[in-house]
Amino acid sequence: MELSEAKLYIVPTPIGNLSDITLRALTVLEQVETICAEDTRHTGKLLSHYNIKTRMLSVHDHNERQRVDTLVAKLAQGHSIALVSDAGTPLISDPGYHLVNGIRAAGYEVVPLPGACAAITALSAAGVATDRFCFEGFLGAKSAGRRAQLTALQEEPRTMVFYESPRRICDTISEMSDIFGESRHIVIARELTKTFETIHGAPAAQLLEWLNSDDNNRRGEMVVMVAGYKKLDEGLSPQVIDALKLLTTELPLKKAAALVAKLYDEKKNALYKYGLEIGL
Ligand code: SAM
Repeated sequence: MELSEAKLYIVPTPIGNLSDITLRALTVLEQVETICAEDTRHTGKLLSHYNIKTRMLSVHDHNERQRVDTLVAKLAQGHSIALVSDAGTPLISDPGYHLVNGIRAAGYEVVPLPGACAAITALSAAGVATDRFCFEGFLGAKSAGRRAQLTALQEEPRTMVFYESPRRICDTISEMSDIFGESRHIVIARELTKTFETIHGAPAAQLLEWLNSDDNNRRGEMVVMVAGYKKLDEGLSPQVIDALKLLTTELPLKKAAALVAKLYDEKKNALYKYGLEIGL
């Protein structure tokens, strides 16, 4: 493959296992004039593994905007460029947005290569709904900010995908348990494609116990996937719903919910909330 015109190539790199790179990615990295890398030392290891000698230029969060002019000048001279991040797909919780934006605005083509991405890799094996999902990236570093973000997502019906660090994972799962409820199903995928790859799912409260039960469960890189919000009636049997409807014809909702909860061993609050939702 010969690179004929000057273009910017977006090249995903492995998220752990060095073999997870495509043949096309290796060819592009070999043939471009410059590889823009988030951390040139980190990318240097990948390049030396594949014996690629292309020159590198550091492009990270702090210098990305300034680099646009230099790179547009390279394209104007007919040179092609590749952009990589430390791991996975550039721009996905990684630098590159300003560069891609600037280079497109200057009229040059930006060519995306498909490849490794932790979020997509995790979703493909977690057993959560994948027909619709939303990517939330990293939550804020401070608890108050994180709680506000999670509260805004309380009734999000799609599967939610987060990136999280081992330092904050227990706090985050504990906050999710408070805000989404102890029984919300959550899956953690850690160390994907690496030796200690683990994919573990459980209701929020049990997942927190699992994390606290062994230091190893909290180690490494992690993707957190949270099942979307489901309306309450999905957990209630038709008999329970009928009983609640019948009793509310004679009793206030609060009393009816308490009686049905006792009769069918259900949660009083859940029944009350459901009753309000359907206007009983
Ligand atoms: N651009 C990358 C991608 O396409 O997935 C993500 C970069 S972001 C700075 C790094 C975060 O991705 C980690 O903190 C972790 O949440 C997630 N991640 C990266 N590699 C992972 C892996 N091997 N297993 C699980 N999560 C991973």
